[in-house]
Amino acid sequence: MKRYQTYIDGKWTDAASGKVFETSDPYTGEPWALVPECDARDAELACNAAARAFESGPWPAMTATARGRLLRKMGDLIAKHAKHLAEIEVRDNGKLISEMYAQTQYLPEWYYYYGGLADKITGQTIPVDKPDHFCYTLKEPVGPCVFITPWNSPLMLVGWKLAPALAAGCTVVIKPSEFTSASLLEFMKLVVEEAGVPPGVINVVTGFGAVVGEPLVTHPKIAKVAFTGGTATGARVNELAARTFKKVSLELGGKSPNIMFDDCILDEAVNGAISGIFAATGQTCIAGSRLLVQESIHDKFVEKLVEVAASAKLGNPQLFETQVGPVTTPPQYQKILGYIDIAKGEGAKCVLGGGPATAAEGGGKYFVKPTIFTGVNNKMRIAQEEVFGPVLSVIKFKDEAEAIQIANDIAYGLGSGVWTQSVRRATMMAQKIKAGTVWVNTYRAVSFTMPFGGYKASGLGRENGAEAIEGYLQTKSVWINNAVGGGGNPFVMKTASNS
Ligand code: NAD
Repeated sequence: MKRYQTYIDGKWTDAASGKVFETSDPYTGEPWALVPECDARDAELACNAAARAFESGPWPAMTATARGRLLRKMGDLIAKHAKHLAEIEVRDNGKLISEMYAQTQYLPEWYYYYGGLADKITGQTIPVDKPDHFCYTLKEPVGPCVFITPWNSPLMLVGWKLAPALAAGCTVVIKPSEFTSASLLEFMKLVVEEAGVPPGVINVVTGFGAVVGEPLVTHPKIAKVAFTGGTATGARVNELAARTFKKVSLELGGKSPNIMFDDCILDEAVNGAISGIFAATGQTCIAGSRLLVQESIHDKFVEKLVEVAASAKLGNPQLFETQVGPVTTPPQYQKILGYIDIAKGEGAKCVLGGGPATAAEGGGKYFVKPTIFTGVNNKMRIAQEEVFGPVLSVIKFKDEAEAIQIANDIAYGLGSGVWTQSVRRATMMAQKIKAGTVWVNTYRAVSFTMPFGGYKASGLGRENGAEAIEGYLQTKSVWINNAVGGGGNPFVMKTASNS
C-alpha cells in the first residue's frame, strides 16, 4: 500500500504522532494508501512555517511579476500531469474520470489567469480634501492563510483559493478532506516542488477536521481562513476564526432550484435537469436538487426526465463510458439512503430509483440509484435539506410569482437555473432569485473569470474572477503632507480639524 508523507516547510515528513490512516477507493471499498494523521503539533509547525515564509526569505522579496511567472509554471506542470492527478482523484473520491480529467485539464487556467493578474494588483492615488497632501493606497497581502477543503473536487477547490492567494503574495497551509488527501500530496510533489515554490509558502497538513482543522483555524499567526465544506462546519469555523479577528471566506452547501418554464426547449431542459442533479452522483454544492416544473408541462417533463435518468449507465468511475459512479464516503452513503426514507415517509412519490444499486445494475459498494421524487412540497425536509447525492425533488408551480417564492423559500442561496425562451422572463428571474449564480438555459458552468459564491447560508465572499484576489488583500492608506513649514497649535492638527 502506498504510504504518503505530508509537506511542511519544504520538507516531506510524517505526522508528529507517527500515526497514519487509510484512504479508500469508493468503487471497491478497499484501502489503497496511508496518509499521515496530523494533529495540533503539525498544525503549529505548518502555521509557523507559513508565517516565516511570509515575513522573510525569498517569497516577500520576489516581485509580483516573478510570482506570476511561478504561477504559470505551476499551470504548465498541472497540464503535464493532468491525467495522473485525475486518476488519483477518482481513486480517492469515486467521481467519474471523464469529469475529473476535464477538471484537471481545465485547472491550469486558474494558475495562468491569476499569474497574469499578479502584477496588475494596484492601489490608487486619491484626491483628498486637504491642501498639500499626496495620498495613495497600497494593496498588501493579508498574510498567512489556512485553506480547509472538502472531498468532492479536491484540486479544483484548492486551486480556486491557492492561485489568487499566491498572486496576492500570501503563504498558505492547506488541510484537505481526510477522505481525499492523496491528490494534493501528489500535487505538492509534481507541481509545487517541481515549480520551485520556496519552502514554507505552501504547506499541507492531513488529518481529521476537529483534530487538526481547529488548531489551524485558531492559530494566532494565521490572518485568513478560506473554507469550503458543509454549512454546519462552516459556522463552527467562522465562530472559531472570529475570536482572533481572522478574515474568513466560506463556500458552503446548497439546495439549488432548477426552474423549468413552459416555454423551455424540453429536450435541452431535461438534459439540464439530469446533469444538474446526477452528474458527480449529485455530490456537488451546486446540485440542482429542487426541480421546479411549471404545472402546464409537469407530466410531460417528468415522463421524459424519468426516461433519460433511467438510462444512466452505472459502474466503474475509472471508465470513460460510465455515467453515474459511487458515493464517495460510507457516511455520505448512509446519509443519502436516510434522506430517501425521509422523503418516502413525508409522502413524496418515488418515480425512479429509491435505494442502493446492485451489482447487476452496475452498482457495487456505495452505489445509490438515480432517484426522483415527485409530489414534493417545498416545506418537506427533502426539499429544504442538502442531501448531497443523486436524489431529485420535483416541485410543481403555477406561475412566475410562485416559482420565485418557492425558489427563495430556503436557507441556502448558492446556484439556480432558469429554462425559458423569453428574455423578459430570464432577466426578471435572474434579478429576483436570491442566489450567488443564476444559469439561464445552462447549468453547472464555472469559469476562472466568473465570481462564484453563496447568498445566505451558502457562504461569505467570492472565489474566481478578478474579485477573488480582493479576498487575499488588505488596503493601506498612505498620507503624505508635502506642505513647506508647520506652525499653528500642535494640539489641534490642522488637517485633522476638518476630518
Ligand atoms: P465537511 O464540512 O464535513 O468537511 C469539509 C472540511 O472541513 C474537511 O476538510 C474536514 O476535515 C474539515 N472539518 C470538519 N470539521 C472541522 C472543524 N471542526 N474545524 C475545522 N475543519 C473541520 O464537508 P464535506 O462533507 O467534506 O463536503 C461536503 C460539503 O461541502 C457539502 O455541504 C457541499 O455543499 C459543500 N461544498 C461546497 C462548495 C462550494 O463551493 N460552496 C463546494 C464543494 C462542496
